[in-house]
Parts: sequence; C-alpha cells; structure tokens
Amino acid sequence: MPADSGQLVRLDAPTTARESRKSLFGLDTESLATLLAELGEPAFRSRQLAEAIYRQHITEIDAISTFPAILRRRLADSGWEIGRPRIAQIFRSIDGTERYLVECRNGNNLPAMKTVVPETVETVWMPEGDGGETGDESDTEETQTLGAPFFRRSSLDERISREPQPASSSRTKSWSRATICVSSQIGCAVNCQFCLTAKLGLAAAAANLTAGEIAGQVVSVMDRHKVEVGRDRLNLVFMGMGEPFLNYASFMAAVRLLVREVGLSPRRMTVSTSGIVPGIEQFAQEPPDLRPKLAISLNAPNDAVRSTVMPINRKWPIASLMDAVRRIPLRPHERITFEYVLLSGVTDRPEHAQEVARLVRRANLPAKVNLIAWNPGPGIPYAIPTPESVESFKAALAAEGIPVYLRQPRGRDIYAACGQLKRTVEA
Ligand code: SAH
Ligand code: SF4
Repeated sequence: MPADSGQLVRLDAPTTARESRKSLFGLDTESLATLLAELGEPAFRSRQLAEAIYRQHITEIDAISTFPAILRRRLADSGWEIGRPRIAQIFRSIDGTERYLVECRNGNNLPAMKTVVPETVETVWMPEGDGGETGDESDTEETQTLGAPFFRRSSLDERISREPQPASSSRTKSWSRATICVSSQIGCAVNCQFCLTAKLGLAAAAANLTAGEIAGQVVSVMDRHKVEVGRDRLNLVFMGMGEPFLNYASFMAAVRLLVREVGLSPRRMTVSTSGIVPGIEQFAQEPPDLRPKLAISLNAPNDAVRSTVMPINRKWPIASLMDAVRRIPLRPHERITFEYVLLSGVTDRPEHAQEVARLVRRANLPAKVNLIAWNPGPGIPYAIPTPESVESFKAALAAEGIPVYLRQPRGRDIYAACGQLKRTVEA
C-alpha cells in the first residue's frame, strides 16, 4: 500500500469454510421460484425471498422474517446461503470517495490466479458523482475544471469503524447524489498500455465475475450507505476493473437483476467498453428498458495512435467501432459518451483535438466527449498532461461544437481513480 494511501480497514477474515455453500444472491425471482418449487414451496415465497435479498438487503437466511423457521432451515440444510459478496476492506479518500475490496468467491477464477491474488474485486463509492455522468439528461450540473494536484499529500481523514456509520435516513445523509463504479472482471485481458488494471500480471487472461458478484458489489455498497431506491440519486458506472463486454452474459444478467429485482433505472447506468465490436452489436439488441447508456473508450485521435495505446484497436479499428455504435437504437435525449484519456505528448496535442472533433462529427451520433487526465501508476511509461494542455484540448473541442466535459479524478490518494484499480495486496 503506498505510503500516502488512505485508511485500510479489514472487516472480515477471508472465509473458506463456506466454499461449498450455494448462493441465492444472483438468482432472479424466476430462478428462486424454481428452486423453491423443488422444496415444495409456492410461487409467492420466491417473491418474498427476492424482496428480502434485493430490497431489504438481508444477508442471512435466518433473518428472513417472512419465512417460517422450518423453511429457513430447509433452505440452509439444502446447502443454500444468501452469499452476497462482502466488503472485506475499505479505503477512504480525503475527498469522500471509498474504495472497497469485495470478496468474490464464485468467480470463474483461473487456477493459476488463486495462488497469486485473493479473490477480491474493487468497487468505488463516489459521493456527488464522478463527473462521468455530467452532461447526461439526469445530472445537469456544469462540470469541473482540473482539480487538485496530481500527487496530493494525503493525510488520512477518518478512521473507519465497524459500526454501521453512514446515516440511515436521507435527511441526514452527507451526499445528495452518488455514483458506484462497478467491476466486471478480476484483471483485464485487453491490455491498454496506460491502465493499471492491465498491469495486474494477468495480461493474457481475466477472470469473469458472475452476475451475482457484479450486482452484489452494488447492493453491498448501497447497504453500507443506506441508499434508498426511488429517493436517492444513485448512478452506476460499469467502469471498474475488467472489460464488461468480454463478460457480456454475466454483465447483462447483473443489469437485469439491478433493474428488475433491486429497482434501479438503466438510465442511471453507464457501461464503458474499450470497443469490443461483437459486444456492442449484441448490446444494440437489448430492450431499451434494460439497457444502460454506453461509453466508448476512444482514447486516441486516429487508428495509428489508438493501436499503440490500445492494442485491441488492431482487431476492431475506429471505423468498425463507429459502425457498431451507430446500430444502437438510442432513447430520446440519449447520447453516446466518448471517453478520452489525455496522455502527455501522445494524445493531448492541439492537432489531436481537431482529429477527435472530426471523428465525433463524422460518427454522426448524439455524442459527448469525457476527457480524463491520465492517472499515473507505477511502471506505466506515460506522463500526466499539463493543466494547460487539458484546458486547451477541452476548449478546442468546445470550439468545434462538441459537448465536452472533464472528469474529475476521485480518490487518487487511495488508487480509486480511473484506470488505477488494482488489487492492493501489499497492505
Ligand atoms: N474496460 C472498460 C471500462 C473500465 S476502464 C474500458 O476500458 O472502457 C474505465 C475508463 O478509464 C476507460 O475509459 C479507460 O480508458 C480509462 N482509464 C484507464 N486507465 C486510465 C488511467 N490510468 N488514467 C485515466 N483513465 C484511465
Ligand atoms: Fe481493461 Fe479498460 Fe483497463 Fe483497457 S482501460 S486494460 S479495457 S480495464
């Protein structure tokens, strides 16, 4: 853990004894009905069970008060537990951001990984949003300018206790809206050259999370902060570790759980992809009431530069990417976000801004550009852009009539900012 990192708190020792239990969390009402039918129970029990798991955030079968004791025992005796992924460690930033290591024991982990890293994944809570949603129809605040210095000397702001601490009523909450950044894989195989996740030592492979592990990150964090569905403004960004479109089925199953069972709106969800064209094509077929918004990691002004910083571009170059994106039937007021990481001297020159403006115009889509000043990481051979180059890049796009926003780095002192998610084993 870096010397200036935020507070680390271990909440639970890793669990091994529960390995053989089966998780209810991750099953939708229909699947719960099937398993309860096998126990001879009527359909309304599945609705009670889904309500307990996904709405009341109950984590122990024994606490399901709508179930008779005998049914609770039969479920447990049949090898079931709720099995929601648990927050194992918390880092808290001076800016209020929290980064969690969430235990994922069902992940389709590669045997080799088990010896290298514990089975945890990273999730981030950002009170007042991450800036990625700025410019969306749901969040209209004007965006930020370049914030704090890149290496802020961090003093730890707060000691975290085991007590349930965030407020339980929206009247006393310290935040008015929040964003949860969710991971879809352990590691990432896409290998973008500027991204710390790619440097996990797993460049050739990534472990897919299950739908329950993806949705479970969200529900565990909602539970911790007592988020009230329908009252609190909560955005989800699938922009944590991993490439969601390389774990497509589980990612979309998680979205369905979050929409249908947890009650969140897909219009407040954004998924970011590095540009996996078959995934985007599949995404275009999803029903609008279950489809998050889409962000594309463009990150470069042309194919030559993009192939250097994102090797995936050799497989799916910019034109094929744009063709796929254009096939998505957008909802009214919906825009595609193009994320653009500014790497000093590599992607942040004035001529690059002109090229990006041309690309976006030619895409002929309702679109906006989210600029992200590169967040540094150990061993990554790029340089952070100067505040001046960031501002002129932004101004150049704006002058070309492109809606452009600058994403505020959050939780840099705890390695929670974009592209910095990497398991902290050196605690
Ligand atoms: N794998 C997906 C989503 C996770 S990455 C994707 O690549 O789109 C989320 C965003 O963070 C992407 O736009 C990515 O380009 C950006 N990013 C990665 N590393 C970064 C870094 N070191 N600094 C700033 N942004 C970074
Ligand atoms: Fe994977 Fe996204 Fe990082 Fe690229 S930027 S390595 S796709 S997590």
